[in-house]
Amino acid sequence: MTANMVKATGTQLAQSTNTMRCLIKENLNADGFTYKTDYPQATVGSDEVKIKVLATGICGTDKSIYYSSQNEALRNEMRRYLAPGAAFKPIVIGHEFCGIVTEVGEAAQTIAKGLPPELRIEVGDYIAAEAHVACGVCVPCRNGQEHVCTHVREKGIHENGCFAETISMPYKNVILLGKDGNTKSIPPRLGALLDAFGNAVHTIEEANVAGKRVAILGAGPLGLMATTLCRRFGAASILLTEAADTERRFTLGTKFGASSCFDVSKGSSKLHEYIRSTISDANGVDVVLEMSGAAYTDAFKLVRNGGTVVLLGLPKKPLEQFDIADGIIWKGVTVKGIFGRKMFSTWQTSLRLLLGDPFGLQEDLTQILGKEDYPLDKFEQAFASLVSGKAMKLVFTP
Ligand SMILES: [Zn+2]
Ligand SMILES: [Zn+2]
Repeated sequence: MTANMVKATGTQLAQSTNTMRCLIKENLNADGFTYKTDYPQATVGSDEVKIKVLATGICGTDKSIYYSSQNEALRNEMRRYLAPGAAFKPIVIGHEFCGIVTEVGEAAQTIAKGLPPELRIEVGDYIAAEAHVACGVCVPCRNGQEHVCTHVREKGIHENGCFAETISMPYKNVILLGKDGNTKSIPPRLGALLDAFGNAVHTIEEANVAGKRVAILGAGPLGLMATTLCRRFGAASILLTEAADTERRFTLGTKFGASSCFDVSKGSSKLHEYIRSTISDANGVDVVLEMSGAAYTDAFKLVRNGGTVVLLGLPKKPLEQFDIADGIIWKGVTVKGIFGRKMFSTWQTSLRLLLGDPFGLQEDLTQILGKEDYPLDKFEQAFASLVSGKAMKLVFTP
């Protein structure tokens, strides 16, 4: 037994009580979360596994849920599966996590028994999980596009999530990271980042960046992950833009492979001049990755005729003015929207890149994380640190 092992006993890990600590959202019209110490533990359905959460990432969506009074679209999304007029039922927030399996439901055990040992998920295993639970039967699901399932239920948005000591997940959503509690492959604070990292991997895979001149708009955690991935996927040049906290973000971005960085607080017309002089092509770059949610107009101005724009960042409100003819049609631009991770090919790509870590990608991800992790009851400090820009990406250790 080493420091990297979490001990499992028997077929079920001992759980001392039936209650747990967690962060819940009680009222969508009020900002903030409520810290609970006596919330019921996650119950495990027949086709599910129960997981003891080791680490959980805080993402932009969680920040939007924290400040839900200011976001009507999000409030509507969180009410999506409620009967019309029904009162909002409090739920546990959080969807990015890794942990140890403590219980396997009956139907899930039957699935496991029919598989070779290396594919079995068993009590004591170290795992991450896809938090989007697809219905499996809608038209996109039946076309191999479960990531855009029309009846998706997202943990931490529609159902209880992972800012808690325990969570339950369908067996098919679980991703094995290490047998018998072995966390050596990917340390838990990076295991908690796999969901977000998967968004960046999905973006890069769709963008086809090899040999291309790429502009990445937004140098937040996902923009920085995209930067290091672009370099590894063989981009010819990488221009990174950002408006806030540029000194730290550009230092990291340059380290990760950005060939030039531009502070967009100087105004976007200057950006257009700059990018065209940098790549010596007045028409624009081959590929633009919009990772900020705030630079849609720039994205379509910066892309060259016949180029590709990949959109991951979520705008805060609908775009009021956008010239489709000028931005897309006359330029013959290919536009791709990215939501979540492909189930489950993106997870497999992510693990191929991170397991064994031949190119030091784990070290890059570690540098995006804040220096210290937070216990759940220090959530107010954690969100304050994210909002002030002191930290870019943080992890709770429930
Ligand atoms: Zn997220
Ligand atoms: Zn579906």
